[in-house]
Amino acid sequence: MKVLVIGAGLGGLSLARRLLDAGIDVSVRERDSAVESRFQGYRIGLGGPGLAALRGCLPERLLPLLHAIGGEMTGMGRMVDTQLRVLGEVPPKDEGTLFDRHVLRHLLLAGLDEHVVFDKKLDDYQELSDGRVRVSFADGSTEVADVVVGADGMGSTVRRQLIPSVQIRQMDRVGAIGRTPLTDRFAGLVPGWSTMVNAAELQLFLGKMPFRRVPTEAAAELAPDVTLPDTRSYLRWVMMIPMEYADNALELEGDPVAGLALLQDLVKEWHPDLRALFDQADAGNSGIGPLRISDPVRPWPTRPVTLLGDAAHPAPPGGLGANLAFIDGELLCRKLIAVNDGTEHLIAALADYEQQMCGYAAEALGYAEKFFDSLDEMRHAQQR
Ligand SMILES: Cc1cc2nc3c(=O)[nH]c(=O)nc-3n(C[C@H](O)[C@H](O)[C@H](O)COP(=O)(O)OP(=O)(O)OC[C@H]3O[C@@H](n4cnc5c(N)ncnc54)[C@H](O)[C@@H]3O)c2cc1C
Repeated sequence: MKVLVIGAGLGGLSLARRLLDAGIDVSVRERDSAVESRFQGYRIGLGGPGLAALRGCLPERLLPLLHAIGGEMTGMGRMVDTQLRVLGEVPPKDEGTLFDRHVLRHLLLAGLDEHVVFDKKLDDYQELSDGRVRVSFADGSTEVADVVVGADGMGSTVRRQLIPSVQIRQMDRVGAIGRTPLTDRFAGLVPGWSTMVNAAELQLFLGKMPFRRVPTEAAAELAPDVTLPDTRSYLRWVMMIPMEYADNALELEGDPVAGLALLQDLVKEWHPDLRALFDQADAGNSGIGPLRISDPVRPWPTRPVTLLGDAAHPAPPGGLGANLAFIDGELLCRKLIAVNDGTEHLIAALADYEQQMCGYAAEALGYAEKFFDSLDEMRHAQQR
């Protein structure tokens, strides 16, 4: 059986690692020209089954390195006003581990060189009369596989062809995300797992990405064959901005410097430590743009083409997307192993995967919607 995974994000790479381990022929095709080709980094929190699924796709020998590049996610969450007066504290929802997406992606790529090809953007696919699938790429090349897995993220080209009815909606809110090198001054802003600055209509979420060890140094000692980027601990910030404050968000999407200028203007009356966050931000790792969401994706008529991760359950940032992508990879791999062993039929196995995956993903997406509803409630309460 030949499996073709479209997209070398967290989900696609974790699936590919598992399939290779199981001796299944798998190739990954990625649109970007290289792993470094654009802003790829922010912190993600993994816990429970998501973290277990990530660990399960890595060989035992890389687990000490995985631990070293993680950071603790503990302590109280705090809500403050724009002058840093404490408004309240909430216990942590989950204990877990923080990772930087970019560093993690490098780790997941380790040893996959001959299976992952960059600069291969899928254009479309065609089901063949023998049950296989032919995939066409933007460079004019084609490949044939028994199963195609669209792990190509929120804007998935595979999903648009497979389930054209799924609509991605723009929310009435813009998200700005970025990072600032972690100093003692900025670490003091986040004594626990997260701090939320609640302004009249804006919310700013702060979280540390405190690597247990500098990733390059940890790799040199624990797994010298693995190359990790030289990323240092940082403070991650995400600002939720009502659309009326940033109606040119679409133009700002590709212009981090202009995006930062907008943020500096929005916080000009705030506490100096908060203003300094944006003055000292790493512009190359910051961005702004409209937030997008979709209705829950329901099971679709099963084909030899399936979906995984954000492609299957598009969600706005900050939710459980990476956790779900790793869980999808584990479940889908189990199903494909059963097909390869001859104990399950391909279409029945994929149908079962899609049924289960759509179920748990819908719950998670509901959680994300509730989160945004609670921000709206807060905003309206303050307007009253
Ligand atoms: C700011 C922010 C914070 C987040 N925090 C968390 C968190 O704390 N916890 C959590 O669980 N999740 C979090 N998430 C969500 C999480 O990052 C995503 O859900 C996860 O990365 C999805 O992985 P994926 O593999 O499905 O997709 P992606 O990582 O988006 O990968 C898709 C890949 O497919 C490639 N691709 C796209 N189109 C094509 C094509 N046509 N042909 C070939 N390749 C293509 C893309 O270039 C990309 O490399 C956060 C997201 C953001 C933005």
